[in-house]
Amino acid sequence: MNFHILTLFPEMVMQGLHTSILGKAAEKEYISIEAVNIRDYTTDKHGKVDDYTYGGGAGMLMQAQPVYDAYQAVVRAIREKSAGSATVANPPRVIYMTPQGRVFHQELAKELAKETDLIFLCGHYEGIDERVLEEIVTDYVSIGDYVLTGGELPAMVMIDAIARLVPGVLHNGDSALSESFHNDLLEYPQYSRPEIWRDKRVPAILLSGNHAKVDEWRLEQSIERTKKWRPDLYEKWKARQK
Ligand code: SAM
Repeated sequence: MNFHILTLFPEMVMQGLHTSILGKAAEKEYISIEAVNIRDYTTDKHGKVDDYTYGGGAGMLMQAQPVYDAYQAVVRAIREKSAGSATVANPPRVIYMTPQGRVFHQELAKELAKETDLIFLCGHYEGIDERVLEEIVTDYVSIGDYVLTGGELPAMVMIDAIARLVPGVLHNGDSALSESFHNDLLEYPQYSRPEIWRDKRVPAILLSGNHAKVDEWRLEQSIERTKKWRPDLYEKWKARQK
């Protein structure tokens, strides 16, 4: 799976995403992560990519031209790469990171993990000229009801959540199946060595070797925890049981 990030701060996303599990997955080519510097595509002779907003107001706005040209360059590169393959690539989904979008969640991560290419568009300053958004964006996505300075952190959050669902990225592919939000439940509590730490014992059932009983205990814990910490999710889970 290939992630393409349109940004004014490529070093920020590349450093963050080429670390730990995702860095190794990129080395092994389960995923690729490319950051495209929007500034490289401006036709302004001083390298400007933003300007004042019409109608007044605080702050600068990213202009349409460099964003559109950067997007076109990415799409051309994807087309060229897939020219030799049997299936001609459809235009990839373009996700604009914005506090105005629908809020990101695990189901959307699962849906997006099925794509071959995804383009993430990161705004900065006051955002991006509406006309280019209308032209290229397929999905408006937020990572929560708060405003950040740029779309880079939101894009990194989304890419991390999506990439770990790509086959091969996690060593143990099953781990995504027991994690929080799978089945609308939070994950059960977990313990590692030593058996006793500050007088706290690991629950005896986990040392019993009885896998059926362990699974039963974990499900009970998941249900209890979800009911207590995320009653909204618990109601969803309960409704699905019927
Ligand atoms: N003026 C915009 C508004 O009120 O909707 C906010 C612009 S924000 C300061 C700059 C950029 O950060 C946005 O264009 C977007 O790319 C990104 N951003 C900020 N908060 C975000 C969030 N919660 N989710 C996703 N992207 C966000």
